[in-house]
Amino acid sequence: MSHFVRGIPSELYPDPASEVPCFRFRGLSSYHELSHAVYTRHGGVSEPPFHSLNTSPGSGDRVERVRANLEIIRSAMAAQSLRGMKQVHGNDIALIHPNGPAPSGNPTEADAMVTGAPGIALMVKQADCQAIMLYDPLKKVISNVHCGWRGNVSGLLSRVVHRMSDAFGCSPSDLRAAIGPSLGPCCAEFVTHREIFPEAFQPFMVRENHFDLWALSCWQLVEAGLKRENIEVARICTKCRTDLFYSYRGEGITGRSATVVMLK
Ligand SMILES: [Zn+2]
Repeated sequence: MSHFVRGIPSELYPDPASEVPCFRFRGLSSYHELSHAVYTRHGGVSEPPFHSLNTSPGSGDRVERVRANLEIIRSAMAAQSLRGMKQVHGNDIALIHPNGPAPSGNPTEADAMVTGAPGIALMVKQADCQAIMLYDPLKKVISNVHCGWRGNVSGLLSRVVHRMSDAFGCSPSDLRAAIGPSLGPCCAEFVTHREIFPEAFQPFMVRENHFDLWALSCWQLVEAGLKRENIEVARICTKCRTDLFYSYRGEGITGRSATVVMLK
């Protein structure tokens, strides 16, 4: 099953033109009506162990520094508003409306957002979990998903694809997807996998207790109706690259980096 990503180079590249250090996906970059960025841990104001572009106040960082970091990202995206979530490793999907509640209020408890409204930047915060961006270039609808292993188990990706279909008439075969930097097969060790993973995940075990979660998410997206050639994979492991990204498994107390997508 790991043929879903194995042997394919990263489809993510650093953007030297960006004022805030970030990476972009080659495929998503070809849509001029779309903005997206995979931010790193650099370019913000937080101090160790949150250095420096930490987006999560829940990590223990000072609130005013996190607020400053969020403004750095909003400004770099040229977004009217930057919308995050209270991510709970659940199954809820928030539909973001242009005239919805002010972003200064408590963020919605959810693990995915969907919108067709321009100017609203959807942000996923992460330290090892996958941020997966989805885009329908025909209906002009975007989604950003926070998918950890619990999301894989609960079928979150399939639920998001269905929600895009139900709410906006998206056809899964039109969707583009990008799986960002996250725990790689080198480091995704689950010693209790027999208890927590369904039997169907077994083909994604690449060596004892280690799983290829990139290939697993890719397979789940294809099962939901996406075409494999429309899925990009960063293939960068956050635990191996704490020089660039935050890693909960690698660092314990640390920050959360941002992956952001927006319709212009
Ligand atoms: Zn690794």
